This record gives sequence, structure tokens and C-alpha cells, in this order.
Amino acid sequence: MSDKPASGISISFAFSQASLQAYADCPRRFELRHIERLNYPAVEAEPALENERHRQTGEAFHLLAQQHLLGIPAEQVGRLANSPELAHWWQAWLMFAVGQDFASAQVVSPELMLSAPLTAGFRLTAKFDLLVVRAGRATIFDWKTSKRRTPTPHLAARMQTRVYRAVLAQAGAHFNGGAPFAPENIEMIYWFADFPQDPAHFPYSAAQYQRDWEFLNQRVKTIAATPAGQFPLTADEKACDYCTYRSYCNRGVRAGAESARDLDDNEPNFRLEDVEESAL
Ligand code: SF4
Repeated sequence: MSDKPASGISISFAFSQASLQAYADCPRRFELRHIERLNYPAVEAEPALENERHRQTGEAFHLLAQQHLLGIPAEQVGRLANSPELAHWWQAWLMFAVGQDFASAQVVSPELMLSAPLTAGFRLTAKFDLLVVRAGRATIFDWKTSKRRTPTPHLAARMQTRVYRAVLAQAGAHFNGGAPFAPENIEMIYWFADFPQDPAHFPYSAAQYQRDWEFLNQRVKTIAATPAGQFPLTADEKACDYCTYRSYCNRGVRAGAESARDLDDNEPNFRLEDVEESAL
């Protein structure tokens, strides 16, 4: 591959689960957002104000969990849970945390960013809500505040599940006495603030790791080699209802209703995490 990929993507670009999911959902969306870096201020889903409020509450919840995991007393953190929804999530999370007994683990690292080298000088980054290590076994936790519990098979196919476990297998040696974690000693758990009794567990295996790592490298090669302006628009026009570029692509002007969005597609198109990861 030459120094300048045909796609025009910067060779210092750090791929993330969010940017790779954008490509999986619609290659043109990836190009507009991550290569052309086009910010288009359309509403993603309606009702816009309610969705924005929910997003901000979700961010506040992540902050509460992080502060508690860093050792700030629960009573002090709990005072910041200043809305009924946030207070509800906080109470559910406290019960979950007590059951997990995080204090007895060797490693408890919230908001952890890891990065691993990919093909052709690119990098792959992941930002975990929490990494816990006990007796050589690593668990990646991700807190979900979506209004619906995403079905487990849909989560299994999401880039986040594939990227996070692979990045830990590649770049987690620092948390395992200097040796990489064996894939069999890695697990990812999604915990849902509105469905606290129903977390989704994803163990890992050497075969899955090999499959995912080859897939990720091949996907990045494909992205880099696609000529600029030739990233195809998704054939699933329903996805355009929830995409901020729909006017730009001539795929409608009105945002779709959040209530009608597919269960496996109820994450925002672009997340702060993605911006932070890509900036590495
Ligand atoms: S509007 Fe549709 S085709 Fe255009 S970038 Fe968004 S998802 Fe892709």
C-alpha cells in the first residue's frame, strides 16, 4: 500500500468500534464522517429534545459509575443523581456493583483506553467503561442506558463486541503481568441500566480472536483502498431515516421516530467515544 491510501484517509487514523460500525452500517457514512470529516447538523431521530436529554443522562450515569469505581464514596456520588431516571440507574448500578465485589479484584480500571497496531500503520483503539482482572481472567464491562434491551445475537454481531475483545487480547499485557491474555481468559459483559438483571455475556476463544483480527485487518485494507468518492451508499434506506447526512445524500429530510428504530440500531450514529478514539 502506498503512503497515501486511495480513499484519502489519513495514515495516522485510529479506527474504533464506532467508526467501523459506521462503515458496516453504510460505507458512505464512514467516508463523510471520518474521511471528509463533514459535520451535518440534521436531527438523528425524533423527538430530538427527548433523545438529547436521554443521551446527556446516559453520559452523567457513566460519570457516576466512574467516580464510584475510582473510590469516591457512594453517598457522595449518589447526591449527583439529580433526576428520577438517573437515580433509578444509580441504585440499580450500586446493587450490581455490590454483587460484583470489585474491591477484591487485582485490576479495576474504569474509562480505560487501549490501542493496538493494525495493518499498514493504522491503529485500532477501544475505550472500555471498565476493565476488571481477577486471577488472570479479564472482564470488559460496558454500561448501556438505551431504552430497550438490545437482543444478545445483535450485540454479538456489533463491532463493539468484536473490537473490544480483540484489542484487549492484542494490547492488554500490561494488565496481566506482561503476558497477553489468552482469548479464553477474556469476557465482555454489557450491563443495561434499565434491565439490570439481564446482562449480556460474551466469552471469547482463540478461534473467535483469529477470525475477528483477520476480519478487522481486511476491513481496514478495504477501506484504505476504496477510491475517494466511491464509498457506496447503504442499500438499507431505512438506516437513512436515522442518519444525520440524509439530506446530503438525498435520502429524505425528516428524522425517523426513535420508537420505530430497530432494536439493534438504537445507538447514536456518532459517539463522543469515537471522536476521542479517532483523535489518538
Ligand atoms: S443518509 Fe443513508 S446513504 Fe447517506 S450516509 Fe447516511 S446512511 Fe449512508
